[in-house]
Amino acid sequence: MAKQDLIVLALNDLPVTDLMERALRASEFEVVIVRDRAGLDRSIQEAIPALMIIGEKFSEESGLVVSTSILERFPTMPILLFAVKDVPGLARDVLKAGLSGYLAAPLKIDDITEEVKRTLHRARNLGDWVRREVKRTTASLEQKAKISEAERVKLEAIIANIQDGVIVLDETHHILLVNQMVYDVFHLEGIPILGKYVKDVIPNADLSALIDRARDGALKYHEINFDDGRVFNAQYTPIARIGSAVTMQDISYLKEIDRLKNDFIHTVSHDLRSPLTAILGYTELVERTGSLNESQHEFLGRLQLSVQHMTGLVNELLDLGRLEAGFDTRREHVQLGNILKYSLDVFDNQIKKKNIKLISEVAAELPPLRANPIRIRQMIDNLVGNAIKYTPQHGKIKVSFSAQENQIVFRVEDSGPGIPPEEQNRVFDKFFRASNRPSGVEGTGLGLAIVKSIVQSHQGRVWVESKVGVGSSFIVLLPATD
Ligand code: ATP
Ligand code: MG
Repeated sequence: MAKQDLIVLALNDLPVTDLMERALRASEFEVVIVRDRAGLDRSIQEAIPALMIIGEKFSEESGLVVSTSILERFPTMPILLFAVKDVPGLARDVLKAGLSGYLAAPLKIDDITEEVKRTLHRARNLGDWVRREVKRTTASLEQKAKISEAERVKLEAIIANIQDGVIVLDETHHILLVNQMVYDVFHLEGIPILGKYVKDVIPNADLSALIDRARDGALKYHEINFDDGRVFNAQYTPIARIGSAVTMQDISYLKEIDRLKNDFIHTVSHDLRSPLTAILGYTELVERTGSLNESQHEFLGRLQLSVQHMTGLVNELLDLGRLEAGFDTRREHVQLGNILKYSLDVFDNQIKKKNIKLISEVAAELPPLRANPIRIRQMIDNLVGNAIKYTPQHGKIKVSFSAQENQIVFRVEDSGPGIPPEEQNRVFDKFFRASNRPSGVEGTGLGLAIVKSIVQSHQGRVWVESKVGVGSSFIVLLPATD
């Protein structure tokens, strides 16, 4: 025993106290005797003992109560209770209070030293084990922390260096993380943005619109335009238990290609118009320069029809070019109910011929709309025309104008063939015609491209909801005039 173990005897003045002191000192323990609570506390403050023996009754207090309060401060302290008499239930009470054991009179010297040594040995083993476990757990936690820290750094480096913009938001749209690309495009360098409400620190109308609309699940993609001409395609993705992420991809080059393509189409259509007019003019002249036989007459007729068809196509393309170039600026108050009525009148024959059941509904109180009436008519004609064209005999069509908050909703629903899901976005592209369109149905694939341009020039949105074999609904949202 290099250093003597300290044993505190918290006992009343009893003959046994003396016996214990002698027995323990004989076994090379250091012994301190205390007579009351204050003495006990003082002794513990001076040196924490290796073991305590506390009397069943200790200066008018219950030894069990005193032990419990010591164990609250030193949960691993080995404590033995000394009882004047071993009564039934004593062992149970001692264990219940969390003590290590008890000594009961009559006692021999060996009983005392053996019990003390056994308890100390057990306590040491327990202490060793606890220390070992703490060390092992700490080491493994440190290891885990090291790994997760390394992972975090790696992930941050990946996100920081990604070429797309990434904004991670919490559930209330406060910024959790943004990468370098976002700092660059929104010029945020040096501005503290983490933890801030996204709309306060990134005041971009397009981004705000995306976040607003995504919240009610209406929209997931949105174009974000910058003053320097750059265009980004932004996508909003909800993330469970975190919030959401907005990723942004630079699509300026795609926009540029699109612009070049439109310019090209516009130039070609423009240049085609004069030769087409010449062809038409000459075919008409041929008839006047001498008599034609029946075949020549028929061929000339077909030639003229084809040229007229081509002229129509070229005119539509030029029209689309004008719309896309933003030349449609005429705005006046329009009576949507009247425009729809005139349009449906024109289609009346076709509707009757196909035995189509048509329902038309116009809400009594529509918010006011300032628009170009000719373009609105063109939009209605194209959508209603398509519904009639693609819906088979005895089908059903429903057209309606209604109000939703400060927007006007135009819906054209039909019971036609529907559009395959992967083609639904493309039907608004120029010249695109769906793969499942009924054979023999004529068209150039420009109608919906014109509709989209008209809607966009009125700051609205158009989309299709469709199920193959069930039908299609084309929906137009137009913001009402303030
Ligand atoms: P046009 O230029 O004469 O309008 P089109 O009708 O073929 O020709 P769009 O109006 O642009 O061209 O329509 C594109 C394609 O979308 C159509 O070819 C058709 O496949 C599909 N489509 C449009 N409307 C409907 C509809 N109501 N039901 C089913 N398919 C439709
Ligand atoms: Mg069409």
